[in-house]
Amino acid sequence: MDASGLAGGPRERMSELQEKCGLVGAVATSGCDVVESVYLGLYALQHRGQAGAGIVSRSRRKTRVHRGMGLVSEIFTPKARDYLAGHMAIGHNRYATTGRATKLRNVQPLLVDYQGGKLAIAHNGTLVNAVALRREMESLGSIFQTTTDSELILHLAARSREPTMVGRLTEALGQVAGAVTILAMDERTLVGYRDPFGFRPLVLGRTGEMILLASETCAFDLLGADCLGDVQPGEMVTIEAGRIERRQIAPPKRPLRQCIFEHIYFARPDSHVFGESVNRIRRELGAALARRHPADADLVIAVPDSSNAAALGYSLASGIPFELGLIRNHYVGRTFIQAGQAHRVSAVRLKFNPVRAVLEGQRVVVVDDSIVRGTTSRQLVQLLRKGGAREIHFRVASPPIQNPCFYGIDTPTWEELIAAGDDVEAIRAYVGATTLGYLTEADLLASVSHPDDYCLACFSGEYPTEIPARPDRVPFDSERWRRPSACGEEDA
Ligand code: AMP
Ligand code: SF4
Repeated sequence: MDASGLAGGPRERMSELQEKCGLVGAVATSGCDVVESVYLGLYALQHRGQAGAGIVSRSRRKTRVHRGMGLVSEIFTPKARDYLAGHMAIGHNRYATTGRATKLRNVQPLLVDYQGGKLAIAHNGTLVNAVALRREMESLGSIFQTTTDSELILHLAARSREPTMVGRLTEALGQVAGAVTILAMDERTLVGYRDPFGFRPLVLGRTGEMILLASETCAFDLLGADCLGDVQPGEMVTIEAGRIERRQIAPPKRPLRQCIFEHIYFARPDSHVFGESVNRIRRELGAALARRHPADADLVIAVPDSSNAAALGYSLASGIPFELGLIRNHYVGRTFIQAGQAHRVSAVRLKFNPVRAVLEGQRVVVVDDSIVRGTTSRQLVQLLRKGGAREIHFRVASPPIQNPCFYGIDTPTWEELIAAGDDVEAIRAYVGATTLGYLTEADLLASVSHPDDYCLACFSGEYPTEIPARPDRVPFDSERWRRPSACGEEDA
C-alpha cells in the first residue's frame, strides 16, 4: 500500500503530533524566483503527506505564506505561486490524519512574528518531550496556536536571548528531544537541521541558480539539481547570500538511529535515502524474503506501488514469474473514500482491483511491505480469492511491527498492532492467507550498508530515547486515542 494511507485508512488516524512529512527549501544564488521549484519539489514529495501543504517565501521586502488542505497541485494555483514569488522559500507536505480534522492551523510551515522579526519553521518528526515542554511553557504563560509539537521549537527560539536567528534556533534545538528534521527561515537565512540520531532524512543539493534542501533526492531529480549529500545528524546547514555554511551543533549520537521504515515503505524507490538507493534495498528485501520463506507457487504479485520493488526481488530470487495481479486506481481521492464508505465499499476495494485473467486458478505469492493492523492484508486476501487465486502465500518485506513509533511514522498503539498481540499463525488465520512469512531483523539489516546506524524500535521495542509515558501520548486531545470504529473513520 502506498503512503496515501487510503487503503485501510487506519494509518491516517494517529495524533496530529505525528509529523511524517515532506520538506523542501530553496535559496536563489542569482536572485531568481525559487517558489516554482519549491512547489515542484513538494509535488515530488507528495507521497510523504497529502493532508495539506504550505510554502513560506521571502521576496525583497515581504514574507508571504500560503497554506491549504489537500494536494500540492490543488493548493498552489498559478495565482498562489505568483503571490508567493521570492528568492527564498521553505515548503512542507503534511501527512493525513483521519477521524480528526487536520486543521488548517496545523498545516506548516508555521510562521510567527517575534522580537527578532519573522520566523518560519517546517518540521518532519516527533518530539518525545513535547508534553513536558508544553506544560512548562503554558505554566509560564505561553499561548499556543496549533496542536503540533513543532510550535514548541518556535516558542523556544522566541524565548532565547541569543542575538541571531541561528543562535536562537540552536538553543531551542538543544532543548527538544526525539525526531527533529527541520527547515527554518527568517528574512535573510534559510536553515536545515537533522537531530543527532538522524531519524528523518534531509539532503542538500544545488542547481546553477539555487541551493536546495529536501527530504528525498527524488525532489532534486525533478528540479535537475545535483545532490551534495545528506545533512549529517546533529548538523545545521545555513544558507545566506548564496553561501552554504555547515556546522555540527551537536555531536552525532553513535550509533545513529535512522529510520529503517523510510526504506521499507515511506520513501520513494527512486530516491536515495541515508545515502542508499531505496529501490536497491527493497529489491534486496524481496530476495531475502524469497530465501527465508520460499513458496510453491505459480506467480508473484505486488501490492502496487510500494511493494513493487520487493515483489520483483522475490520473483528474481525465486524464479517464480512476476505478474500484475492487482491494478491500482491512482485517482482515488479523499472524497471517493468517503463516498465508498457511504456505500460500504472498502477503501482497499476502491483502490485495488484483482486481474482475474492473471489470478484464476493460480497459486499466488503476494508481497506487501508491512502489516500494521492487518486490515489491509485481510481485505487484500479476500479480494485476491474473489479474483480467482487458488492459494495465497502472503509475504511481508519487513519483520512483524510489534511497537508503535514515537519518531514520526504513523503507527498505531500497541493494542491496535496485530503483531503486538498475535503470533504469525494467528495473524495468518486472521488475514486468511494459505501461508504467511515475514522477514527477520537480521534480514532487514543485511540489506543496508551501515546496519548499526538504524532504528528498528517498531520491531524490536528497543527505543533509542525515553518514550512518552502512556498518558503523555494523549498530549493535547485524548479523543485521538479512541479505538477506530469497525467500518473505518472518515477523513475530515
Ligand atoms: P494495515 O491494514 O494496518 O495492516 O496496514 C498495512 C498497509 O499499510 C500496508 O499495505 C502498508 O503498505 C501500509 N502502511 C504501512 N505503514 C504505513 C504508514 N505509516 N502510513 C500509511 N500506510 C502504511
Ligand atoms: Fe522508523 Fe520504526 Fe524507528 Fe519509528 S520506530 S523511527 S518507524 S524504525
